[in-house]
Amino acid sequence: MDLRETLAANLMHVRALIANAVERAGRDLNEITLVAVSKTKPVEMVKLAYELGVRDFGENRVQEALTKVAQFRPSDVHWHMIGHIQTNKANRVAATFDYVQSVDSLHLAQMLARHAGEHGVRLPVLLEVNVAGEESKTGMSLAELSGLARQVVALPQLDVQGLMTVAPLVSDPEEVRPVFRALRLERDRLQKELPGTSWHHLSMGMTGDYSIAIEEGATIVRIGRAIFGERIYGGKHV
Ligand SMILES: *Cc1c(COP(=O)(O)O)cnc(C)c1O
Repeated sequence: MDLRETLAANLMHVRALIANAVERAGRDLNEITLVAVSKTKPVEMVKLAYELGVRDFGENRVQEALTKVAQFRPSDVHWHMIGHIQTNKANRVAATFDYVQSVDSLHLAQMLARHAGEHGVRLPVLLEVNVAGEESKTGMSLAELSGLARQVVALPQLDVQGLMTVAPLVSDPEEVRPVFRALRLERDRLQKELPGTSWHHLSMGMTGDYSIAIEEGATIVRIGRAIFGERIYGGKHV
């Protein structure tokens, strides 16, 4: 199969599993945004996915993303930043991305807000939560989320739309169901605590666990390998 056929088959499979999960959960397919995670993959693959109907793309490294966005930015495409952002890159991120899903500190939120203001945009963002409290991961802890959320929603240049999490790597995806459920409960709590913000979005679910994430309320799934294939970088899987 050539690349286009492989991508088409992969996308058809992913969309079918999304539809199945939506059905099981008694939800509506329109509630789910598929973000195709194109990190490490060439812009040619992004263009092919676009031709196959994908409109949302996710990247986790600023420099790599800037190159791709510069080469491919139709007006109906949304680029999502999903990786950790060093604050010295906040300016470029605010100027380039349509959504920033990985707001993991108040300082980063303040820097993004300042630069969004300079660019005259109100930047849609999600707060990244480290639900399982893993040392190796960035994201706000459950303990600090309320306090930080209150301060971030007070920044008028940011349009806070919900929460994002990266679940722990496990062999059986059922093991991460409690993580997704916990994120949804946090979202529900924030909706009551800070009702001036919609908190609509729950970005959770990747190649290994997106069906379960949808059953638990995901509105955004971020899928890389199941669409674009395994990532191989200098001989290593990343
Ligand atoms: C790489 C990445 C994904 C996609 O992971 P896959 O397992 O390839 O689907 C999703 N979210 C984040 C934050 C990532 O870095």
